Amino acid sequence: MSGLHHVTAIAGDPARNVDFYTRVLGLRLVKKTVNYDDPGTYHLYFGDEAGSPGTILTFFPWGHAPQGRGGVGLTHETSYRVPETALGYWAHRFVELGVTHEAIAKRFGESVLTFTDPDGLSLALVGVAGAETEAAWAGSNVPAENAIRGFHGATLLLDDAKATAGVLGVLGYDEVARDGTTTRFKARGSSVGGIIDIREAKGFLPGRMGRGSVHHLAFRAADDQEQADMRRRLVDEHRMHVTEQIDRNYFRSMYFKEPGGIIFEIATDQPGFAIDEPADKLGETLALPPHLEGRRAEIEAHLVPLKEAA
Ligand code: ZN
Repeated sequence: MSGLHHVTAIAGDPARNVDFYTRVLGLRLVKKTVNYDDPGTYHLYFGDEAGSPGTILTFFPWGHAPQGRGGVGLTHETSYRVPETALGYWAHRFVELGVTHEAIAKRFGESVLTFTDPDGLSLALVGVAGAETEAAWAGSNVPAENAIRGFHGATLLLDDAKATAGVLGVLGYDEVARDGTTTRFKARGSSVGGIIDIREAKGFLPGRMGRGSVHHLAFRAADDQEQADMRRRLVDEHRMHVTEQIDRNYFRSMYFKEPGGIIFEIATDQPGFAIDEPADKLGETLALPPHLEGRRAEIEAHLVPLKEAA
């Protein structure tokens, strides 16, 4: 399986972030942990019931982060799949709950409802035929037939698509369509999280990463072997500087900056989120990696309390 593993973005207030993704969008908070490089701040993970690869949106809530600005060299939009028949429900829900959104539009023949989260992160719901059979989180207040099914994909805003297209080839993607200045790539064998659109915007202002920006995109590797093979090809064929493997507890990761300037990660499907708490209790308590467990009391005292929506 190829495709997106997770998307990580920057938020402001963590309580507002949890409220929006659980109560408004109906995702499951599948892991509540800290940023391993900055344990005074949260790292929050939202996904389907199990936190399956291809459904996971994670946040670094940094209360004092300056507002980001969209532009070249950043991810422009992250999109989710919903059943085609669900878009009307969502448009109505966004009006009711005061979510900033646009009118439903067509893109590559698909109906798209774009919206932003409270920090200004650009998101979209894409109506996909057959998505109703895909897994979702049934424990939220969004009726199951309308629930979000995981990622559709992401749109990158780049000066030039060519070199990045080569890198996407290594990550399991093929070019499948063009629409104006946008080229669409699709992951082999994946529906969930399988789309990357590159919008070429030569001469546009570069983006500035901050609150409301995507920090990085993580792509799937089935296991360590596939990840190592991808690394070798990225280094040998595309001259990418790829880090060594880093253990992120729930997956094992490598990072590099793709030719357009966006941070890409390759993350393994294993071991997943049930490694340190029961699958039916995901996200309920603060999870800490072994090396931080000894500092639990101190860490918990410094984190602002969160209240999850039922
Ligand atoms: Zn990541």
